[in-house]
Amino acid sequence: MTATETITKLPFLLANKWQSSSTSRYADVFNPSAGKVIAQVPLCTVEEANAAVAAAQAALPEWAATPVVDRVRVLFKLREVMLRRFEEIARTVTREHGKTLPESRASVQRGIEVVEFACGIPSLIMGQTLQNIARNVDSETTRHPVGVCVGITPFNFPAMVPMWMFPIAIACGNTFILKPSERVPMSSNLLGEMMVEAGCPAGVFNIVHGDKVVVDALLTHEHVKAISFVGSTAVAQYIYETGTKHGKRVQSAGGAKNHLLIMPDADLDQTAAALQASAFGCAGERCMAGSIAVPIGNIADPLVERLRDIGSKMRTGPTDNGGEVDMGPVISRQHQQRVAGYLDIALREGASVALDGREIPAASSEGFFVGPSVVDHVTPNMRLAKEEVFGPVLSVLRVDDLSEAIEVGRNCPYGNGASIFTKSGWAARQFKMHFNAGMIGINIGVPAPMAWFPFTDWNKSFFGDLHIQGTESIMFYTQGKTVMTRWFESADESHHDPVWKNKK
Ligand code: NAD
Repeated sequence: MTATETITKLPFLLANKWQSSSTSRYADVFNPSAGKVIAQVPLCTVEEANAAVAAAQAALPEWAATPVVDRVRVLFKLREVMLRRFEEIARTVTREHGKTLPESRASVQRGIEVVEFACGIPSLIMGQTLQNIARNVDSETTRHPVGVCVGITPFNFPAMVPMWMFPIAIACGNTFILKPSERVPMSSNLLGEMMVEAGCPAGVFNIVHGDKVVVDALLTHEHVKAISFVGSTAVAQYIYETGTKHGKRVQSAGGAKNHLLIMPDADLDQTAAALQASAFGCAGERCMAGSIAVPIGNIADPLVERLRDIGSKMRTGPTDNGGEVDMGPVISRQHQQRVAGYLDIALREGASVALDGREIPAASSEGFFVGPSVVDHVTPNMRLAKEEVFGPVLSVLRVDDLSEAIEVGRNCPYGNGASIFTKSGWAARQFKMHFNAGMIGINIGVPAPMAWFPFTDWNKSFFGDLHIQGTESIMFYTQGKTVMTRWFESADESHHDPVWKNKK
């Protein structure tokens, strides 16, 4: 940086107006490829969080009364704007998060698919009706918005995870406040710009930046009715407990430890390629990343050999300069050190490091790099088997048979994703029926559900009842109203049934 350069202080969005925060607290936003500060994000005040709720609350009656077909027209327009500005948002994701540009593009595409799902909400939000449930009595359930909704999101998918939430909430007639991760706030601000450009009425979509201070203000505010959270398990549990204690409905997705089972009959090339993409894609910073390979029987040695081989050929480096790399940096210096520290822990606990991601050329640069690592001979009681690393470290836990592999899953506190690689339909079925996780892949490395399906995480990977995405999210963002109706026949109306009257 030169003496004349200044770092931008990011604004937040209230009722379609960009505001400068009055806070004295700011956090640095980094370009992880260069290890350089690129912006500062305000850690907004409680008063600013309250102002966001007031803006959302003020916009609510008119938005909830807007016909659903008109509400989704804003989302049709948003889709158009996002497609036109697709590269801009993908590049912003890469700049502040570090994932490769193709990875960023794929994540933006996944987000747009949620908008497409939300555009179909007029058909999905229809209620239920049954005529003549008792003689001359009709009954119907209709779905209504819940009110002001809040989304609190993690760093790992700066555009996609916010988009899991607000398009659906808004289409259902709610107003929304997004509290993005303070580590990747720029993509959210771009989404805010796009919502304004799409013609979203003032107050329907708001952004407030910050940390625990604003989260707590939103979690306890009397006018907030629903909280969607995605992040680490400890915070997810805190959000669920605090939000529900204050009378909100909460869906709260946490961390993960995902198993990839490999049967002895699996195709080695295809399986190793799928494992590589699952464990090292997005530098392992995905809640659906495979983090423990569980080879069954004698496939273990050739599999580890293959993983070491393909992992060592991956190019890890900066993603912000158009260079051809397979993997970018992790989010921060602290996280880089934490991920690398797991390799020391593994060695101390008796595992062996088959591929050491610390030994890559980019490790000595200013960026936050750690290359792909493979840790062999991990056992169920080791920390690598139990704790989420959230980096490009694939553990290998060898077992003798499928039952033992299923048992490994049963003892895992998380329950996000799990996959099996096999040619056997029977083994796949056993796995699908019995593995202790909510999202299952059969010969698929990252079985993350697309927008039309719910993200059905289990155990300590989710706190709540109704999951994010798909029809479960429509239930979450609406409340049912059930009406029973009876009209009494007046004395001067002689009733005759027009359908059956003249039939023989
Ligand atoms: P994080 O829990 O540190 O932060 C998530 C959000 O919570 C951020 O907006 C942050 O500002 C806020 N926050 C952090 N600490 C808080 C506190 N003490 N009180 C109130 N709010 C607080 O998570 P992260 O590091 O940004 O994201 C990575 C985690 O997210 C991983 O554990 C990953 O598995 C998880 N994740 C889960 C899913 C899923 O669907 N299950 C999807 C993506 C990411």
